[in-house]
Amino acid sequence: MGSERLNLINIENNMQSSSYLNNEGLMDNSSAAVKLYGYLLAKGLGNPRKVVLSKLSTIRIGGEAILAQAGSIKELEKIIQAAQSHACRAVIVGGGSNTLYPDTCLKALAISLTGELAQIEIKTEAGLDENQVLVKVGAGLGLGRLLQEAANEGLSGLEFLAGIPGTVGGAVCGNAGAAGGSISDKIESIFLHEYCEGEKEIFKGDFQPGYRTMGLDLKDGEIVITAVTFKLEKKDPQAVRSAMAERIRERSLCQPKEPSLGCFFLNPKGISAGMLIDQCHLKDLAYERALISNLHANFIINNSNAKAFDVCELANIVRSLVYKHHKIILEPEVKIWDDYGRDIGLKTFQIVT
Ligand SMILES: Cc1cc2nc3c(=O)[nH]c(=O)nc-3n(C[C@H](O)[C@H](O)[C@H](O)COP(=O)(O)OP(=O)(O)OC[C@H]3O[C@@H](n4cnc5c(N)ncnc54)[C@H](O)[C@@H]3O)c2cc1C
Repeated sequence: MGSERLNLINIENNMQSSSYLNNEGLMDNSSAAVKLYGYLLAKGLGNPRKVVLSKLSTIRIGGEAILAQAGSIKELEKIIQAAQSHACRAVIVGGGSNTLYPDTCLKALAISLTGELAQIEIKTEAGLDENQVLVKVGAGLGLGRLLQEAANEGLSGLEFLAGIPGTVGGAVCGNAGAAGGSISDKIESIFLHEYCEGEKEIFKGDFQPGYRTMGLDLKDGEIVITAVTFKLEKKDPQAVRSAMAERIRERSLCQPKEPSLGCFFLNPKGISAGMLIDQCHLKDLAYERALISNLHANFIINNSNAKAFDVCELANIVRSLVYKHHKIILEPEVKIWDDYGRDIGLKTFQIVT
């Protein structure tokens, strides 16, 4: 079936024109990121190391990168300063569950948030109902860890997010949601760090969240989400735990277990992208090692050793066919990084009829 359909499509894939295919994803020793690595090491800053991004990604795709860990605002500031002085872009990596990393080595410095930037602080504050609690959470904390702690403390409100992988920062960035709720529903304030400007706290009303967007201008990665404050309610820990377990059980019935980035495409207004793809009979469609899940048509899975290129090719084929059948253009929910860690999305495509 594939070849007949594919003849109808002429896809201009951004991956072809980028350097995705140019090397094996190995580090170039003359790159700014590698020089920066030596500098950070010499300064004892950020505990830098060479990593393979595929190991930090839920779809298991990505080449080499230099990763530094920022354990405090001060350390984050110094690492970004060092990156600037080496003319090297710096990008935040979270849980890698919503980002398609490039096959090539990353030319930007990858920074993960740890230590003080991954802590939980329960705050009591005047003006709250007696069963309400404010919880300040570092953006580097895993969402699963946060939910576990909330259950232990008997804090309710975030149960609907149970089973979503990644970090709190990543979830805030894309306004992660499920079961009709979004993380923004429970956010009171967000702490943002901008190089040279320091940290500032913005409050509900200062930003306009929407479907899979927090409505923040992060200036193409220059602004870092460092922490978030949630307003939660006190509840029986067992009730919180059971609600989370139920969400995880429901997910396991409809989401594939193979490596993926979750839903690849955004739902067009009021319509399920998965349903549109399914109606085109695209479940099990493969491009090289990337495959449309037969359990959930909006999941592209890594069927062993897939490349970012394969995933993008498959995604472009899917959106071309969905456009052909439904006249709807699907847009990616996932961030698709070039080798500087910039979200390049999927390029425009053309249907040849
Ligand atoms: C099996 C599976 C199921 C999923 N189910 C859902 C679901 O039900 N609902 C849903 O919404 N999503 C879902 N997802 C997608 C994904 O898990 C969420 O979007 C998640 O919140 C992303 O977090 P992350 O830390 O992995 O983000 P990453 O992919 O690491 O980062 C995403 C983007 O945010 C930026 N970023 C991360 N942290 C910061 C920060 N602190 N400051 C500034 N920028 C930052 C990164 O640079 C990147 O551009 C699913 C994914 C998988 C694999």
